[in-house]
Amino acid sequence: MTCNVAFIGLGVMGYPMAGYISKAGHNVTVFNRTTAKAEKWITEYKGKMASTPKEAAEGADFIFTCVGNDEDLKQVTLGENGLFHSAKKGSIYVDNSTVSAEVSRELYNKAKEKGFAFLDAPISGGQSGAEGGILTVMVGGDEEVFKKAEPVIDCYSKKVKLIGPSGSGQLTKMMNQMCIAGVVQGLSEAINFGINAGLDIDKVMETISKGAAQSWQMENRYKTMVEDKFDYGFAVDWMRKDLKIVIEEAKRNGSPVPITEIVDEYYADVQKMGGNRWDSSSLIARLKKKK
Ligand code: NAP
Repeated sequence: MTCNVAFIGLGVMGYPMAGYISKAGHNVTVFNRTTAKAEKWITEYKGKMASTPKEAAEGADFIFTCVGNDEDLKQVTLGENGLFHSAKKGSIYVDNSTVSAEVSRELYNKAKEKGFAFLDAPISGGQSGAEGGILTVMVGGDEEVFKKAEPVIDCYSKKVKLIGPSGSGQLTKMMNQMCIAGVVQGLSEAINFGINAGLDIDKVMETISKGAAQSWQMENRYKTMVEDKFDYGFAVDWMRKDLKIVIEEAKRNGSPVPITEIVDEYYADVQKMGGNRWDSSSLIARLKKKK
């Protein structure tokens, strides 16, 4: 079935995601704050561009956002030209940004009052996952709404799962980020250790990646970490945003997260080294610096 879809936020992730929805045959209207990106998008894919989120969402059956943090999300939703001022009754709004569970629940409730539905649906898989249309999407919200939105979310993902009620998608993403933070620090320490020990890291990785030490980060990032190449998508600034969300939520639900707190400080060191836009595997840079 062809649907009218609005997509707001054509960043590293949103740009190709909106592209996959268009390629699947839906009528897509995009909005991006920096107009040049939307202009480029409509030359590359079939679709229209709008001048505000409100205009993009007019008449849409499905509305998607993929913006930065809680404040950015509030601007494009509840702000003066936000999509909440035009979303039609019965439509479904899916937010793919990584934000707090709190703001997600707030939007869920406000959408309900206005007669449309909201799903928090943060993503994992990085820039390559977005460009390949193979993201993992963790969803919070109502089951009947999820069932209707799933075929559209499927356009840009390989795994979509409803985890539980509103906010559950964001809580799942928090767990995802906790796992990544610890693994990347461990991998950084091991690689730096191996280099200092004079080992052939390729041979080491070829061997230990077949055993219990294996991880996505090891498979996909060890080479670039050895070579100090940190231009692979998920920025340190975004990781710090996510870990702050984790630490605040952990305080609320009484969970100790000591490793997450330490790794967050290590990412702050990377920022001080100028690594704000380096990817999140750059934790190794602060270890190499200390040699
Ligand atoms: P990005 O490349 O920096 O893009 C952010 C997008 O949001 C841009 O389109 C930006 O518009 C828009 N935006 C930000 N603030 C806005 C505001 N106040 N009003 C209107 N538009 C605004 O970021 P990204 O990497 O695509 O990430 C987007 C979201 O996905 C974030 O929540 C991030 O944590 C999450 N995420 C990212 C990755 C990854 O690997 N990159 C992976 C998983 C999840 P402009 O073009 O005008 O700046």
